[in-house]
Amino acid sequence: MNNQEYYDRLGVSKNASQDEIKKAYRKMSKKYHPDINKDPGAEEKYKEIQEAYETLGDEQKRAAYDQYGPAGANGGFGGNGGGFSGFDSAGFGGFEDIFSSFFGGGASRNPNAPRQGDDLQYRVNLQFEEAVFGTEKEVHYNREATCHTCNGSGAKPGTSPITCSKCHGSGVINVDTQTPLGMMRRQVTCDVCHGSGQEIKEPCQTCHGTGHEKQSHKVSVKIPAGVETGQQIRLAGQGEAGFNGGPYGDLFVIINVLKSDKFERDGSTIYYHMDINFVQAALGDTVEVPTVHGNVELAIPAGTQTGKTFRLRGKGAPRLRGNGQGDQHVTVNVVTPTKLNDAQKEALKAFAEASGMDPVHPKKKGFFDKVKDAFEEK
Ligand SMILES: [Zn+2]
Ligand SMILES: [Zn+2]
Repeated sequence: MNNQEYYDRLGVSKNASQDEIKKAYRKMSKKYHPDINKDPGAEEKYKEIQEAYETLGDEQKRAAYDQYGPAGANGGFGGNGGGFSGFDSAGFGGFEDIFSSFFGGGASRNPNAPRQGDDLQYRVNLQFEEAVFGTEKEVHYNREATCHTCNGSGAKPGTSPITCSKCHGSGVINVDTQTPLGMMRRQVTCDVCHGSGQEIKEPCQTCHGTGHEKQSHKVSVKIPAGVETGQQIRLAGQGEAGFNGGPYGDLFVIINVLKSDKFERDGSTIYYHMDINFVQAALGDTVEVPTVHGNVELAIPAGTQTGKTFRLRGKGAPRLRGNGQGDQHVTVNVVTPTKLNDAQKEALKAFAEASGMDPVHPKKKGFFDKVKDAFEEK
């Protein structure tokens, strides 16, 4: 069992705080993002980082990973049923989920025992606003379903599977081999029923005895407001058909939030960058700022410096696991004009004069010193 590797992928130590893990993830994720990094192998690396963070970024999954390795945190994707997700459609999953999947998902010895079908994963892309407000998506995919002709038995309608005549239902047979040391007895999978313990005399013509058939399936998934990339929603029973009458596996819908050309987001906080001109910065102004909730007015006080951040309370994203909404942070950038006409130049010279600067000889050394002093003063 390896419970170190995810830490190595993010380049953090095992006792890193959740905050350090998050920071490391952001850094690594930017570095290897396939849109940015075109090196061969970058995409693979990026996926590995995502995988590591899906576990380490969640305290509960991380605890399970520390204790049991990847099997503890992921509960066997595509394996023997079970599965764990950060939250599921019926509410938020808890630590119990890890245990039920970890200890309950073991392969059964009895070949006739009902077995849950495989889990499936579906990656869904969400627009920035869809992730903020939540949405409902219809997802389409192909899966192994219970054969509609034989209802999963594998036997032609009107007939039923019978107990295997060779192994009498155990799924295994004993093979005796003569060796120089005497007779050796081994147990092997029954070659008539292939371990199922049941023999189908007349196979179903739709599924040829497998009990499963390909199905083009669609399901509607409710995506809660405030989701983030990497989070999963479990839809119980929307995976693949079970075996021997066992239940369907689950579908894990994995969230991928697309970038916005306006906003950035971290949890419930939304970030926005806004240009203002130097007159607005110096004299103050009221400006319209876009938010995901619509435009709002923001008062820029006189004497605002570039890089100053304002907080618009409650204009962020909903808190997924709490109440209320986050804030929007607006960082202003004061733009220096690049092209000035004569009238503008005159006005600025007059301004400099009124400020006690010497605007008449701009090449004079003293001028620069004074200007420098004037703007660097804090
Ligand atoms: Zn069938
Ligand atoms: Zn058999």
